[in-house]
Amino acid sequence: MSGTGEPTIFERIAAGEIPARMVLETDRVIAFHDISPQAPVHVIVTPREGRHRDVVELAAADPELLAELVATAKRIADELTDGEFRLIFNTGPAAGQTVFHVHAHLLGGGLKEGSLA
Ligand code: C5P
Repeated sequence: MSGTGEPTIFERIAAGEIPARMVLETDRVIAFHDISPQAPVHVIVTPREGRHRDVVELAAADPELLAELVATAKRIADELTDGEFRLIFNTGPAAGQTVFHVHAHLLGGGLKEGSLA
């Protein structure tokens, strides 16, 4: 849940209420293709639960889950890219964060002009 008590959009994707092109699901993590890709490979890697709004909160509260997000991103990059990738956590509205449910952007395969990086 977000701070408002409403499920976040990513919790609704995890619950199957909003469609997404799922890449991988584990007990605690989901990964799906970004609806608006900024690179040939652009995958969102996020916890099923949205109780942490950004990576700073997650790192303080549950570093094991943060490590699992990173390991999941690496696993996906090994499958979908040449194994080298960018992992971006937008942190705060001024930095471009729009969904306040911690998530990593996994970007690989070359970036478009004016992308997230
Ligand atoms: O870092 P930021 O919060 O801006 O990232 C949110 C990302 O979630 C965006 O890249 C957006 O395209 C993606 N998104 C999505 N599917 C949705 C809603 C948002 O892939 N249904």
